[in-house]
Amino acid sequence: MSLPKAELHLHIEGTLEPELAFELATRNGVELPYADTEALRKAYRFEDLQSFLNLYYELMAVLRTERDFEDLANAYLARAAAQGVRHAEIFFDPQAHLARGVGMGTVVEGLWRALGSSEDNHGVSTQLILCFLRDESADSAMATLEAAKPYLDRIVGIGLDSAEVGHPPVKFREVYEAAAALGLRRVAHAGEEGPPAYITEALDVLGVERIDHGLRCMEDEELVARLVRERIPLTLCPLSNVRLRTVDVLADHPLPAMLDAGLLCTVNSDDPAYFGGYAGDNFDAVGQTLGLSEDRLRELACNSFLASFLEHDEERRARYLAEVEAYEFG
Ligand SMILES: [Zn+2]
Repeated sequence: MSLPKAELHLHIEGTLEPELAFELATRNGVELPYADTEALRKAYRFEDLQSFLNLYYELMAVLRTERDFEDLANAYLARAAAQGVRHAEIFFDPQAHLARGVGMGTVVEGLWRALGSSEDNHGVSTQLILCFLRDESADSAMATLEAAKPYLDRIVGIGLDSAEVGHPPVKFREVYEAAAALGLRRVAHAGEEGPPAYITEALDVLGVERIDHGLRCMEDEELVARLVRERIPLTLCPLSNVRLRTVDVLADHPLPAMLDAGLLCTVNSDDPAYFGGYAGDNFDAVGQTLGLSEDRLRELACNSFLASFLEHDEERRARYLAEVEAYEFG
C-alpha cells in the first residue's frame, strides 16, 4: 500500500465517490435519482460495462464549475497520496463535459487549481492527459484538440478511451498526427476488450508510447515479443478488469505471466470509485491474490516511474526510483 508508485491510468471522472457526488449535487442544485449516498453506493455495484457507463455519465452532471473540478482532483490526490502515489498522470474526458455545456477552460483550469499545488498539498507530482472518447467521431476529437490549444501548457499528452470494440485506433490517425505536431505525448487504450490487432495499430498508426490496458496482447506471441523488445509500457488495471469481466476473477489475471514474459507492466486503478479501489488497493490485491513476491511488487513500482512522462525532470525520476529501492516491506 505505501510502496512509492506512479499512477499512469486514472480517469479523474472515475474518482467521484458518492459522498462528493451528493455534495456537488447539492451545491449546484442538481437532482440525483438516488435517495441518499447509501442508495447511490448500491448503484456503484453495477453488473456490466453499459450500466457502469450509464452511471458514470449520469453523475458527471454534478460537475459544473472550476471549483467542482478542483474539489474532485483534490479528493483523488489526497486518497492517492495516502496509498503511496508519488506521481500521477491523470486522464480527463473533455468531450463528456463540452457536450453538456461545460467549457474546456472550466475543466482544465479547475483541475489545475488542484494539480498546480499538488506537490505542496499532497506530495504528489502530476501531469494531465486529454482523452478522446473513441465512440465519438474523429471530427469531434479534432474539434476537442482545437478547443484545448489555449491550455496546452497544462496538458502533457493525449489518450483514447471509452467503448473500444468497433472503434479501431486508425479512426483517430489524423488527430494523433496533429497532436504529435503540437509536441504532445501519445497513449491509447487498446487490447482491453478489443483484439490484439488494436494494440499493433495504436503503435504503428497512432505512434503511441504506452498502451493502456493491453492485456489481450497475451493472445499474440509475436506482439508480446515486440512489446518486450521495444520496452512499450502497459498500464494494467487489475480490479477494473474483474469488475468489467475482462477476467472472471482476480486469481485468473495474466499479470504474473506478463511479468514472466518480460513485459513492462504497471498497476493502476482506472476508475477507482467504481472499480473497488485506488492504486494501493490494486497493489495489495495483486500482491495477495496473485502471490507476487516483494521483488515483483518492487519491479512494478519501478516500472511505473520508468514508464512515466518525466523526461523533463530525470532528477525527479531518479529520486522516485531510489525511494522504491530503499523501501522496506512491513
Ligand atoms: Zn481506462
